[in-house]
Amino acid sequence: MTTAPVFPEDSAYWHGLAERVALPAAMLVDGREDDGDGALPVVSPRNGSVLVEVATASDADVDRAVAAARRAFDDGPWPRMKPRERAAVMLRWADLVERDRDHVALLVSLEMGKPIREAWTIELRALISTIRFYAESADKEAGELPAVGEDDLALVVRQPSGVVAAIVPWNFPLTLAGWKIAPALSVGCAVVLKPSELSPLSALHVAALALEAGMPPGVLNIVNGTGITAGRALGLHRDVDVLAFTGSTDVGRHFLRYAADSNLKRVWLELGGKSPNIVFADAPDVDAAAEAAAWGICFNSGQMCTAASRLLVEGSMLEEFTDLVLAKVATWTAGDPLDPGTRLGPLVSAQHVARVAGHVERAREQGARLRAGGERLLPSTGGSYYSATVFDSVAPDDDLAQQEVFGPVLAVMSFTDADDAVRLARNTEYGLAAALWTSDLRTAHRVSRAVPAGTVWVNCYEEGDLTVPFGGFKASGNGRDKSRHAVDKYTELKTIWMSLS
Ligand code: NAD
Repeated sequence: MTTAPVFPEDSAYWHGLAERVALPAAMLVDGREDDGDGALPVVSPRNGSVLVEVATASDADVDRAVAAARRAFDDGPWPRMKPRERAAVMLRWADLVERDRDHVALLVSLEMGKPIREAWTIELRALISTIRFYAESADKEAGELPAVGEDDLALVVRQPSGVVAAIVPWNFPLTLAGWKIAPALSVGCAVVLKPSELSPLSALHVAALALEAGMPPGVLNIVNGTGITAGRALGLHRDVDVLAFTGSTDVGRHFLRYAADSNLKRVWLELGGKSPNIVFADAPDVDAAAEAAAWGICFNSGQMCTAASRLLVEGSMLEEFTDLVLAKVATWTAGDPLDPGTRLGPLVSAQHVARVAGHVERAREQGARLRAGGERLLPSTGGSYYSATVFDSVAPDDDLAQQEVFGPVLAVMSFTDADDAVRLARNTEYGLAAALWTSDLRTAHRVSRAVPAGTVWVNCYEEGDLTVPFGGFKASGNGRDKSRHAVDKYTELKTIWMSLS
């Protein structure tokens, strides 16, 4: 019997490991370390120090990576293996990630500032279980035999789409990469992954482990670089069959243009959000609702596509509930992400702090009332720390109610009844997630159907597992990550019709 791994609670352990951890710097192309054509510093938001300079890709390097993936797909063993054999390699890969769990969690924490406990528990658990889930699904796919009559035979088969370019952000650098590359690899596609230029280190290490597990060269390649260099080159590449993107809505628009201007590759988009968290006066557990409201804006320092950034409270309990949320938010104090006790780590970069501070400034100018936070913290560390911030008296069309801040900044608004809550909830361009808290079964069903969102939580927040799809309505994107449905993004349906007459 294997025992479940236990998170190391000792702060000295993590600081010691950080002193001696090996930081990857090379890209991975065609199964080899690759120095690319330039270098980019990776700056730790903990303290502003340069961790390492990583190799970056020129257009020619992106061409080489795509060509390696093309060879691996067209001529290599990966798509031709029995699905169970692909599964075996992926399961070994998951085991190796598990073996290196402390090391990889540390890379995440150093590169983008996630508190080490969350990097180790949530981020690594998500990656490992995603690889295992899609490994296990590899030999569970089946085609269809439609009933077309005696004279013909129709086979509907699902084939891997080919070369997939996955472009991902920094906020959950491994979870989000895993949600794309694991289903794509499990069906036999070859992948070029471009991590965010802010968080390439953990992805580089994890890709090297795939090779160690026996994944053939060229099946999983990693290129580094900024969006307008490596990201754009992948977007416009004529030999990429599928673009799987997670990031901001604005950049998602670019990917649709890249596809239109090149080979009309498939484009799957997981984009931004401005999720409403609707609390009715009959919420079954008001304290749990307040706890979740605070968690929903403070977890990952608010850098979460599903951040509960709009808190809609039924008017009759507005004051009392806002006070409760303020008390919960006050417990989220900022600290060094390498300290296992830290819950609120730094924002990803000094530039991002300036962006978040700009949103706070604008909210003040537009007349919202600052109830907590609104300030940079721990300046002597050199890190990019920002306080958990709460505004009330936010008007529905204020920028703070409409724009994604991607930081720990909560907008509190009130509603009169269920129809008013739905009207407010619908009043953004986004449709990623929503939550509602009520004891009334009819309200729960009616409102969860009426709110345009890919996920609606009732009396909870951010719950779910790999068996359920995740993605957005409206400007929050298209397609779904997670679950069996993610496989649709990386496969094409083919009809083979045979005449038997
Ligand atoms: P971003 O859109 O700036 O960058 C995401 C990726 O795209 C990065 O790898 C970046 O290098 C690349 N990129 C940037 N500009 C590009 C361009 N012009 N052409 C090609 N590639 C380009 O997003 P970010 O700041 O890294 O992440 C935050 C955003 O991601 C937020 O909007 C958040 O809501 C969204 N997000 C969505 C989900 C989801 O599943 N829906 C999950 C996490 C984050």
